[in-house]
Amino acid sequence: MTAGETNKPKLSIVNILKCKNGECKAWVREEFAVPGQVCPICQGPMLRTMKHLPPLQKKIKPQPK
Ligand SMILES: [Zn+2]
Repeated sequence: MTAGETNKPKLSIVNILKCKNGECKAWVREEFAVPGQVCPICQGPMLRTMKHLPPLQKKIKPQPK
């Protein structure tokens, strides 16, 4: 047993594009961005940055019995 063991998912650093407008909270993962991506909310320019995010979890479909 290691001390400090938690059940929290580890955050990983993900490249994202963030809206340059400080009042706009929009951002998209870079992996989902398109070339020349503009803000989906205010259509403004976006800035490459990084964010700490939990890893993407694949939703498992419940299997019908
Ligand atoms: Zn925006």
